[in-house]
This record gives sequence, structure tokens and C-alpha cells, in this order.
Amino acid sequence: MIQIAIDGPSGAGKSTVAKAVAKKLGIIYVDTGALYRTVGYYVRSKDVDPKDADAVAALLPEIRVELKYESGTQIVCLNGENLGDRIRTPEMSMYASAVSAIPAVRAFLLETQRKIARENSVIMDGRDIGTVILPDADVKIFLTASDECRATRRRDELVAKGIATTYEEVLADMRKRDSDDRNRAVAPAVAAPDATVLDNSWMTPEESTDAVIRLVREKTGN
Ligand code: C5P
Repeated sequence: MIQIAIDGPSGAGKSTVAKAVAKKLGIIYVDTGALYRTVGYYVRSKDVDPKDADAVAALLPEIRVELKYESGTQIVCLNGENLGDRIRTPEMSMYASAVSAIPAVRAFLLETQRKIARENSVIMDGRDIGTVILPDADVKIFLTASDECRATRRRDELVAKGIATTYEEVLADMRKRDSDDRNRAVAPAVAAPDATVLDNSWMTPEESTDAVIRLVREKTGN
């Protein structure tokens, strides 16, 4: 069994790299951001302010979030329904970030994440995997890139999904979300002291993947 933690800000390419590494190593890729997005989606559907900690906490007993795998692809279900790309909009990014600062929400999602890592070899991406969720992970990587590179990647990703947006809009949203994530009181999005920081601003996705695989081999000796 192996646990690989990949943390870092949005648009650093965590999911692209983690998916490729999972495929190469034959292990499971866990996208933890999807869990926060799913809670954010429910909060939005109830017209509740995502910053109102008490109101959001009161909704949690109504929410069942399940992680499933269909032919190797992660599916997150909200009360039995697969939300697909509905959780991938810029609005849901902001809702996810707002609800993720609420301690009750983090506590609510903790066991789902630890359970999957107890039962499977995983590469898990998020913001607090190396610091909180899997503090004993075999390999911890903090993946980052310049704001400009990350905003360009995120814009291309959104446009490819048919979501109309501009570079300026994406850059502003991303900076706001990263600063909120980094400065929150609970589980701030920072590198674990024993994480390797990898800046992939000038790397292709293949080069980033190879760099991660090299680190995994170095740390695990195989
Ligand atoms: O990774 P993704 O962009 O999908 O995450 C959406 C938001 O969920 C992040 O901006 C962050 O606020 C939150 N998140 C978190 N902890 C994680 C994963 C995501 O707080 N492990």
C-alpha cells in the first residue's frame, strides 16, 4: 500500500499529474476538491450563504457524499446522484472554497478521505492532504506554478468545457480563492514541512508527471 499526497493551489496541474501518476502506478486517484464542491453545490441549491458556518453546519445531516469508481474514474455522488460537471463551474469553485473554511465541513469529509486511503493505494490531491488528512503519507508533494501560468491553464480548461470566461476573470478569482485558502484558520493550504515543493511553471504535463514519479521512486525505493 502506498499513500501519495499532492497539495497546492488551483491550476497547478495537480489533477492532471495525479491522474497520470495513478495510471502509471496502477493506484487510485482521489480528487478531494470534488468533495468540497459537492457540499458547496448542496448549500447553493438551498440558497444558504456559504460563509454562514452555523447555517451550513445545520445542512450537513441532510448530505450524503459518496466516492465511487467507475472504470478507474472517480465519481462523487450527492445523496445518490452523480453531479458530473455541475460542480466544475467558477461559481462552485467559490462555494467550495467558502464552505471549506468551516471546521464542521472539514470534519464531515475527513473520514471519507481517510477511509479510501486505508483501503487502497492512493494518490490524493487537495490542500491539506500532507498536513491533515494523511500526515504519514509515504510521499508528499506541494505542486505550484506562477499565477500567470496557473490562470492560463485554468482558463483553457474552462473554455474547453464550454464555460465562457476570460484570462483576467480567472486570474482574479484564482488569486482570491488561493489567498482565502492559504489564510484560513483551519487546515490552511500550505506545504507540509516534509513536503517536496515542485514548481512546474515551465514543465509540460509529462515532465511534471515524470518528476513526481522520480520522487516517488526516491522516497519509496522502488
Ligand atoms: O481542488 P479544487 O479546486 O477542486 O478545490 C476547490 C476548493 O475546495 C479549494 O479552493 C479549497 O478551498 C477546497 N479544498 C480544500 N481542501 C482540499 C481540497 C479542496 O479546502 N483538500
